[in-house]
Amino acid sequence: MSIKDKVIVITGASSGIGAATVVNLAKQHAKLVIGARRVDKLDELKEKYSEAEIITQKVDVTNFDEVNDLVTTAIDHFGKIDVLFNNAGIMPINPLIKGARDEWQNILNVNVMGVLNGIAAALPIMQSQKFGHIIATDSVAGHVVVPNLAVYNGSKFAVRAIMEGLRQEHHNDGIRTSIVSPGAVATELYKSSTDEATQQAELENEKEIGLSAENVATAVAYAIDTPDNMDINEIIIRPIKQP
Ligand code: NDP
Repeated sequence: MSIKDKVIVITGASSGIGAATVVNLAKQHAKLVIGARRVDKLDELKEKYSEAEIITQKVDVTNFDEVNDLVTTAIDHFGKIDVLFNNAGIMPINPLIKGARDEWQNILNVNVMGVLNGIAAALPIMQSQKFGHIIATDSVAGHVVVPNLAVYNGSKFAVRAIMEGLRQEHHNDGIRTSIVSPGAVATELYKSSTDEATQQAELENEKEIGLSAENVATAVAYAIDTPDNMDINEIIIRPIKQP
């Protein structure tokens, strides 16, 4: 089945990697249900890429009911869900000594519970369809720990473990699982850091060496477009200058 016949649900679609993926897939005439909190950004994409069928919906991935509604929208409008791209994420950077417990909780809620909420909403439907593909944006930070990023690292290590568990539990149900793990990408992600000096350093690093969101979207589209008997379990993409 080509991309144009696929129903694809995307979280974190209002900017960065998610928005670039919407554009890539819209140009291939996919049927898209796209979610984020900033619906105005989603509507701009829908208007600009009218060659694809795009449904926009407000979703906060920390809220299971909203994630479930997003998946239900795909079923109500298109009768199936081929792909769930669990992409929404945040990356506040802080040393552990700051004890930023609210921030830690938020990272875990968005990056880990957000992915689990997507799985909880889509998996029973995919199991009964006997097909489906769940993709998560993980990170090189899910492989390598660096100072000041420990909680984000923990969230991305967790996503990798959860996605591997999903693969092991459901590969016999026709369900494919993929993780896309980029290194530095030039997006708005640096804005989720509460520390201004860190924001600036992160922005400069991304501008200096980062991949584009479009680079990563190409990898997501590749994973989606492979034949159903193939499971691209993980794609790691570093900018060439990243150690
Ligand atoms: P952006 O900040 O550009 O995009 C993040 C997206 O997540 C936005 O669309 C935002 O939408 C959405 N989001 C954040 N919080 C929530 C929430 N509670 N509910 C719903 N949506 C939410 O950054 P990226 O494109 O870089 O990030 C996308 C993914 O890529 C993340 O999982 C990130 O961890 C991962 N990643 C990024 C890297 C990078 O260097 N940029 C490297 C490796 C991985 P809105 O605010 O409208 O809700």
